[in-house]
Amino acid sequence: MAGTRSKIKSTRVKNKVSPGSGKKVRATIASKRLNNKEWADIWPRERDIIVRPERLRYVRNAIIMNGCVFCQARDNGVKPDSLCVYKNDSAMAVLNKYPYNTGHIMILPTRHCGDLVELQDDEYAAVQELVRVTAKIVKAEYRVEGMNIGLNMGRIAGAGLPDHLHWHIVPRWMGDTNFFPLLAETKVLPETLEQTFARYAKHFAGVK
Ligand SMILES: [Zn+2]
Repeated sequence: MAGTRSKIKSTRVKNKVSPGSGKKVRATIASKRLNNKEWADIWPRERDIIVRPERLRYVRNAIIMNGCVFCQARDNGVKPDSLCVYKNDSAMAVLNKYPYNTGHIMILPTRHCGDLVELQDDEYAAVQELVRVTAKIVKAEYRVEGMNIGLNMGRIAGAGLPDHLHWHIVPRWMGDTNFFPLLAETKVLPETLEQTFARYAKHFAGVK
C-alpha cells in the first residue's frame, strides 16, 4: 500500500473546471500509470464537480448574521413558527429550515455553545440522549431505512452556523437520492415544514 501511495502522489489529476455557474464537469485522470486493481483501492478516482461561485453570498450572510437563529428558536419556544419542536433545560430539537431530505431535524444543546469540548457533561449526555430519542421517533414516524446522523464542528468542517453546535439527523430511504445531490442544494420534498413539525410534535409531546 505504501508503494501505491507514492504512485498516487506522483499522479497528476487534471480537473477541467469551468468558472461558469452551475456547470457540471468531469475530472479526468491525466496519468494511466496505476493499474485497475490499484485504482480500485482509491476513492474517488473520478468525480463530478459543480462550480457554484454564487454560493459565496450565503457564506458572507452567515458571517454577518444578526444573532443566533438557534437561540432565537429556543427563546421563541416550541411552536411551528420557531421550528423548535422540543426543548428541555439542556437539549432541544429544531427542524432544518432548508432540509436535505424530508424530516431533517437537528439536535442542539439548549445553551449557546459552538465547541464540543466546552459542553458540560450533563449537557453532552442530554444532547446524545435526545439524538437517540429523536432517531427512534424518526424511525417510527417516517419508517426510514437509514439515517445520516452527524455534527460538523467549525466552519472549515462544513458547519453553516458554527457558533451553536447542532447534530443533523437526515432520514434516508432506498432510492431517495445519493448523498451528493443532497449537498447540491436542490431537493424536491413531498411535505411542508408545518406538516413535518406536526408529525414530530405528536411524538415529542410524550418526551420529558
Ligand atoms: Zn445560539
